[in-house]
Amino acid sequence: MISYDEVIIGSGPGGAVVAHQLAEHRRNTLLIEEGPRANRYTHTPFSMDEITRLYRNQGMGMSIGPPHVNIAEGRCLGGGSEINSGLYHRLPDEIRDLWQKKHHIQSFSPSDLLPYYESIEKALSIHSPDTPHSLAALKLKTGADQLGWYCPEIPRWVKDGVRQSMSETYIKAYEEWGGVVMDQTRVIRLRHVSGQWEVYCKGSTGEHVIRAQTVFVAGGAIQTPLLLRRSGITRHVGTTFGLHPTIKIIAEYDDPVSQLGDGVGRFQVKEFSPSMSFGSSVSTPAQIAQGLSNYGIPPSFKTDWNRFAIYYAMISTPTMGTVRSLYHDPTPIIRYRLSSPDFIQLGLAFDRLCSLLWASGAKRLYPSLPSAPVLHTHSDLNCVKEGIEKGKVHLMSIHLFGSCPMGENRSHCAVNSFGKVYDCNGLYVSDGSLLGGSPSVNPQGIIMAIAKRNACEYSHQKGLLG
Ligand SMILES: Cc1cc2nc3c(=O)[nH]c(=O)nc-3n(C[C@H](O)[C@H](O)[C@H](O)COP(=O)(O)OP(=O)(O)OC[C@H]3O[C@@H](n4cnc5c(N)ncnc54)[C@H](O)[C@@H]3O)c2cc1C
Repeated sequence: MISYDEVIIGSGPGGAVVAHQLAEHRRNTLLIEEGPRANRYTHTPFSMDEITRLYRNQGMGMSIGPPHVNIAEGRCLGGGSEINSGLYHRLPDEIRDLWQKKHHIQSFSPSDLLPYYESIEKALSIHSPDTPHSLAALKLKTGADQLGWYCPEIPRWVKDGVRQSMSETYIKAYEEWGGVVMDQTRVIRLRHVSGQWEVYCKGSTGEHVIRAQTVFVAGGAIQTPLLLRRSGITRHVGTTFGLHPTIKIIAEYDDPVSQLGDGVGRFQVKEFSPSMSFGSSVSTPAQIAQGLSNYGIPPSFKTDWNRFAIYYAMISTPTMGTVRSLYHDPTPIIRYRLSSPDFIQLGLAFDRLCSLLWASGAKRLYPSLPSAPVLHTHSDLNCVKEGIEKGKVHLMSIHLFGSCPMGENRSHCAVNSFGKVYDCNGLYVSDGSLLGGSPSVNPQGIIMAIAKRNACEYSHQKGLLG
């Protein structure tokens, strides 16, 4: 049986940062990833090919509601960082305070976190590029300016047009330092035997077992609790799962606003933070056509699809769901029910985004709601808003977190303040599962800063820091 000092399961932002740190210390480390290798040469960003090959279940994950929430996650070397929009945030102070108080997280002050933010910001070249904004993003900014709403440009991890994903940065350095990667291999369960971990894997060559002194589980906020629970570790695991419910609206303008290759816009409306934010999405002909299919696609769509653009409203909520599994079935059962206040907040977010889009010059709005009418003016809004408040809405989410929260409060934390699973020697969590609730902003930067902080603490405990 092959043996390693550390095995890291999952190569998304949480796992890649730990792997990188350990390889830097010349540890004998293995990074296991269920999905295939991917990089900027293997697929076109935001294409159907990318969704088919690099998303889990082709982006068709689903929570059980009502209403159901469509969930999208990466499943490839680098995880979500390979497919995402690259919008970077630190954790807002008010949210950090909330988590620290609720979970009793040690060493989690702004000054404790600062060096880790700075370290990842340097590694990912976080900055505001001087490339032009898409027209759809400029419409969002125009609408916000008309209404006097705060709409900053969000910095990104895109350098010279190349997304600074994990495979471009942390995993690249990890392999250069001799770290081993095993891709297209799924870890099925873990067993603690004679002071070591046995990692049961299934890959293209069949099933095998790997031994490790220490295991970091970094499969993301759904797969991590699933694997832990399947391994018999269940205490506070998968019972506090969170997401950012997101509603989409297609806006139709008189003139072109979209073109092939436009990514997600770099402006975000932050006037109502932390409770809600708005932005412009990727708008390909296929995505717009899918969104319009409820309404009937106009005959002229083939030539004038570029007059349409997709926008989103995302809310932040304390609502929590659960992640469970059937033992022999890899499909997670995710239960997530929005509360009445959530629906009211969604209705308000919807109302505000519609107002902004009209202020930006949109002529017609097509919301992602079952059997909603096309909206022409504010007076069309009332019945739709009422429907949303009653839960009649199609939702999606790409921000998943909180299923194994960290902290010293053992009444609900699954792991300690540095990610170590309670009552399990040599077992750590390192991904979005650790977050103490909704971060209210795009979470990757926060996941990475926490992973880096925890990896430094681990290195310190092991005497690796010199
Ligand atoms: C379309 C999209 C756009 C986004 N845009 C942004 C953005 O602009 N800014 C931002 O901050 N965030 C964004 N996000 C969210 C961000 O990508 C995630 O928050 C982040 O990737 C989560 O990191 P993670 O390490 O928790 O897990 P993941 O990135 O999900 O990585 C987990 C990895 O573990 C692997 N894995 C899981 N289980 C196993 C197993 N049993 N065995 C082996 N491997 C396993 C998975 O295949 C996956 O590759 C976006 C997400 C999506 C989907």
